[in-house]
Amino acid sequence: MTWPILPGAVVNGRPATLGVLGGGQLGRMFVHAAQSLGYETVVLDPDRASPAGRISHHFICADYRDPNALRELAARAQAVTTEFENVPAQALAELARARAVSPPADCVAIAQDRIREKAHFARCAAAASGVAPAPHAVIESEADLAAVPAALLPGILKTARLGYDGKGQARVGTRAELASAWQQMGRVACVLEQMLPLALECSVIVARGADGTVVSLPVQRNLHRGGILAVTEVFEQNLPAALAQQAQAATKNIVSELDYVGVLCVEYFVLQDGRLVVNEMAPRPHNSGHYTVDACDQSQFDLQVRTLAGLPLVAPRQHSAAIMLNLLGELWFDAAGSPRQPPWADVLALPGARLHLYGKAQARPGRKMGHLTVIGQDAAGVRQQALRAAELLGIEAF
Ligand code: ATP
Ligand code: MG
Repeated sequence: MTWPILPGAVVNGRPATLGVLGGGQLGRMFVHAAQSLGYETVVLDPDRASPAGRISHHFICADYRDPNALRELAARAQAVTTEFENVPAQALAELARARAVSPPADCVAIAQDRIREKAHFARCAAAASGVAPAPHAVIESEADLAAVPAALLPGILKTARLGYDGKGQARVGTRAELASAWQQMGRVACVLEQMLPLALECSVIVARGADGTVVSLPVQRNLHRGGILAVTEVFEQNLPAALAQQAQAATKNIVSELDYVGVLCVEYFVLQDGRLVVNEMAPRPHNSGHYTVDACDQSQFDLQVRTLAGLPLVAPRQHSAAIMLNLLGELWFDAAGSPRQPPWADVLALPGARLHLYGKAQARPGRKMGHLTVIGQDAAGVRQQALRAAELLGIEAF
């Protein structure tokens, strides 16, 4: 295979093609970025109506483990990435035998498992960054349960695998609640984390190339509601400069120590005493980075394309202040529970408003249907328009 995979190249008589495992909104925005550079795209997803599958040149509708589907993907694409961390790491490993694959399967496997993920964070903290994960204990047996230190309560019990948007989590105040929550989770491997007094949450997205070059996006300040990201704010002074620098440095360390290739997002807590704590990582672009499509000269999806194809990584620059509002399914229902269309015409009349809908036919409460990014020259103006948009949409002010 010729490397890098240049846009517009012809490979075996066909246009250079990039593949993605997973057809959700992250895959859809990856496809947009790849196509705008001139690549063809191929998406593999089990859902016939997947947001990315619907706009890709090629779509393979199959399970992620289907060997024929993986063969077809490898036959069509010169390089393959993932938009979804719960894609079987085995599928990535298999594809990697025939094709360029990023991120590497073993890195995805670490990010899929909170126990291994926290161990990596703890190693990085000890070796260099000093930014540690929350105090926690691994629970895999009755003995582990009995040995939980009292200092971890009240805490949050999280399944080691397959959690997202606050799913697979239970807040527990006492040993009895902990025992019954673990029972309810089917006694699968879990992590109990001490409940921390959060002042705010933030995240950092970095991209690392195969040659070890790392570039970073600005630090995102995030507001979660009900375990789901609601608002991301990115502009000068969105959090104290020293904390922002510390979070970026810790993220660079985490990505380099993994020998990672691709786009990685690390989520952090800032505690009420000002300390930074590392929460979790996603081996892919992240919801908190969607603003980059409208507010940066290179989006997180452009960076994903570049790392996948081996193109140069240039430090991205944010050119506009930005606030992103997630558009969840409840906005498609009125107070009486009847279906409605959100007031797009009014929202789009606001200066700097950029609407992104993912093409999902069915709205359900909590389902990510799209996002709205408001951009502008200064934070105050952006905040004013974003608050206006929230009011029009029925999103609680922030
Ligand atoms: P994601 O959708 O980001 O993958 P997730 O379901 O994997 O989310 P976490 O990021 O671990 O879950 O937790 C979701 C939210 O719950 C956090 O953003 C934070 O608001 C809160 N939270 C999680 N852990 C703690 C903690 N130890 N102390 C206080 N709050 C916490
Ligand atoms: Mg999270």
